[in-house]
Amino acid sequence: MQKIKQLVWTVLVCLFLAGTLSAGDVKNVIWIIGDGMGPEAMGFFMQGVRYAGLEDYPGKVSNLEKMMNSGEWGLFFNNTYDTIVTDSAASATQMATGKLSRPEFVGMDYNSQPAETLLEWARRQGKSIGVISDTYVTDATPASFSAHAQNRNQKMEIARQMISFAPEVIMGGGLKYFTTGENKKLLRQAKKQGYRVALNKKDLAAVKSGKILGLFSEEALPMALELERNPKVPSLTEQTQKAVELLSQNENGFVLMVEAGKIDWAGHAHDAGAWFHEMKNLDDLLGYATAYADKNGETLVYLNADHDTGLGAFTYRHLGKEKAMQKTSQGEVLYGGDIDYASFETFRQFAKQKESLYNLEEELKKMPAEKLTPAYLQKRLSQAMGFEVDINQFENPTDISGLFQQINTSRGLVWATPNHSSLPILSVAYGQEADEFTGVYHNTDILPRMKNVLGGKEE
Ligand SMILES: [Zn+2]
Repeated sequence: MQKIKQLVWTVLVCLFLAGTLSAGDVKNVIWIIGDGMGPEAMGFFMQGVRYAGLEDYPGKVSNLEKMMNSGEWGLFFNNTYDTIVTDSAASATQMATGKLSRPEFVGMDYNSQPAETLLEWARRQGKSIGVISDTYVTDATPASFSAHAQNRNQKMEIARQMISFAPEVIMGGGLKYFTTGENKKLLRQAKKQGYRVALNKKDLAAVKSGKILGLFSEEALPMALELERNPKVPSLTEQTQKAVELLSQNENGFVLMVEAGKIDWAGHAHDAGAWFHEMKNLDDLLGYATAYADKNGETLVYLNADHDTGLGAFTYRHLGKEKAMQKTSQGEVLYGGDIDYASFETFRQFAKQKESLYNLEEELKKMPAEKLTPAYLQKRLSQAMGFEVDINQFENPTDISGLFQQINTSRGLVWATPNHSSLPILSVAYGQEADEFTGVYHNTDILPRMKNVLGGKEE
């Protein structure tokens, strides 16, 4: 009898310990998605910070690297129901719902059935919820967490669904989807439902509690390297800080999805300088989010991407022997004499870049041919890139597409595609229960793991 009592007691203690120590200890999740951020974008950024001697990183360590060193990594695939390559909508849908989907679907499984998203589930657990994107709030990624539509382009419908779903936080760009056409009265309706509307940094600072609808631009928010010229637009980090301030007022916790959406745009445009600045923008956010998790102790920060965009990297190239012949101080010829292995100076140039080269290319293409003199191009390019560019190094510089291609080639930059690739994606989990997100997995496996760490009620 004594033995049985002892056994029962031991079992009870074990069950109790299992209950307190197992998954389910996470109260808050900050899920950060770098849209289009393949592993090569992460490596590209961290390598520049480590080795290029950049002014903004005197310690030579990015927040991303710090997070990776103290967090847990996983590698996952993002194929859809029957395609190898995905778009942002299918990928975000699969991540948010745990169901296989199809390209361009928003919050629907591959059978066109609406599927419950993480945010809908989290609300049922009594948590506050939010979405932020530095593109527009109706864009594929935030939409797939908070709406259900057959196609990502149904932006007006998505905006209406978002307001009726009413997450406590909606922030980003895309004001026009709430103020024009069939949605002319949507902003007014949102206010009636209790949303405080913020259109700039000042409005944002004034909101201290309750629900917020922040729409800081008619369409997408400016590229990271153009933010300085738009001082009224809050940065992604500033938006996230406010969101956390508001959402954390719920004692049951919160789930917040933040998209750094323009890493993808820079990749599509093959603009490595803009790519660098978008990663820097994300890195600032990681600094804030990981510090919050450290302080709070009940928060998981999960960083991943929806897919890779562009497959960009440095490569070496043959220059032609007469051009190169790099020599050591003893006069020995290096690298077989004619190979440029790419220089860290290029990262220092990225740091100086002032404008998106994609926007500049579009601007120049629209100009009348007679204005596009080599002298004008030299001046305009130097202004945008932030250092004196020598236009004479390029052949036929007034052919604008060719010019931008040559700029990439001259820096040793190569991009394999203007579209998305099937490259597997890295995830980095930091804070509470981070070790639940390791191994090789699929993006439909994220949702069950999230539910597990959040310790949801039995269904
Ligand atoms: Zn894309």
